[in-house]
Amino acid sequence: MTEIRIAPLTVVPEAGQVLREAELAVSTDSGRITYLGPVRGPLGAGDIDGAGRLAIPGLVNAHTHSAMTLLRGYSDDVPLHTWLTHVRAFELRLTAADIQAGLRLALAEMLRNGTVAFIDMFQWDSTLLAAVSEAGMRVSAAPAVFGYDSVAFPMADPTPGSDILERTAALSAEFAGDPLIGLAYGLHAPYTCPPEMVAEVAQRSRVNGIGVHIHLSETAREVDDSLRQFGVTPIRQVADLGLLDGRVHVAHAVHPRAGDFELLGRPGVTVSHNPVSNLKLGAGIAPVGRYLSAGVRLGLGTDSVASNNTLDMFEEIKTGVLAQRGLAVDPSVISGADLFRMATAGGAPAVEPGLSGVLAVGEPADLVLLDVTGTTASPFTDPGSFLAYAARGTDVTDVFVAGRRVVAGRRVTTIDEAAARADVAERAARILAELAAG
Ligand SMILES: [Zn+2]
Repeated sequence: MTEIRIAPLTVVPEAGQVLREAELAVSTDSGRITYLGPVRGPLGAGDIDGAGRLAIPGLVNAHTHSAMTLLRGYSDDVPLHTWLTHVRAFELRLTAADIQAGLRLALAEMLRNGTVAFIDMFQWDSTLLAAVSEAGMRVSAAPAVFGYDSVAFPMADPTPGSDILERTAALSAEFAGDPLIGLAYGLHAPYTCPPEMVAEVAQRSRVNGIGVHIHLSETAREVDDSLRQFGVTPIRQVADLGLLDGRVHVAHAVHPRAGDFELLGRPGVTVSHNPVSNLKLGAGIAPVGRYLSAGVRLGLGTDSVASNNTLDMFEEIKTGVLAQRGLAVDPSVISGADLFRMATAGGAPAVEPGLSGVLAVGEPADLVLLDVTGTTASPFTDPGSFLAYAARGTDVTDVFVAGRRVVAGRRVTTIDEAAARADVAERAARILAELAAG
């Protein structure tokens, strides 16, 4: 067994816990943590000096559309429904190569900012899933469906929604042997996917065990429209169609009404809270405190860079705390540890059942080292405080996923980041020129 030891360092094995002067060891063969405790002695060749480092569980981005890095900085300051029109016009021009390039840059960005796993709804195929596996990240990928007939990405893939459901199951079977890759049905939303399709996907999911990812109750307008059209909230509507009986991961849920809390607290349901995106698009602020007291399992996500504009989970943690306190006019409503838990153990089981998102012997070696010698970390007295309010993705020095060192000394080892940046810049410029030409 090849074991890499990291010592001496501070470890936050999960939200609210701290070990000091500790050693952490990982097996590159099993991909699991083999030791966590007091330093066992001098380091050997190949081990990592942990002085000035803090180890945390890898961050989990519980909702994004990662290939949309090409849209960073596009349509920043317009009303939500104008924004949707702009984004759609841009997306219609994406080729398969554009989506590959956008994904590659997103993978590099997530890794270098300490994210080890993500839940993503977009166009997905074998090539894109293989790119995630080669980059060494975990994904729950949900090929997006916008109804039976509509095609999501005409340039990249003019496949109708009915065929994408078949393809999702085929991709799940194709990647069944890859521990990093999982699939989910990607129902975009109840306002784009008809009730028959929601019911059909619930049925398919019950039969084959593939989970579902769906946007629900992101805006007040969406909830009002649903009440007018169907007489129930979007959350109640999909529950009535059987969707919340299985394994379902919900994005947003900013505007629940009475009765929705209990539905989202069902055993197979997880919810991604996306504070930066919700604030930037003016969608609102989700009632996180009420969700936590109702037993709803919350993860934390960035959403796409078109509504963020980074994939830095540390921004979500801090913004998530601040938004709740500003809304309640009360600093005691939520803690930094609550948001850090959401960013790790909260989102992990939504990526893959059984994934814990904590550092412990026997668990997958998905971990992040941060430099805590910098000015914004000094004095380094309270690791929990640093993680919630001062840490940035740029503090990340090393990342391991399943025991593989995918970031080493602030360099992504699995992706040529400079090439990824240049490629995306060129492709975004081409699309912007096309849009300007009409
Ligand atoms: Zn989304």
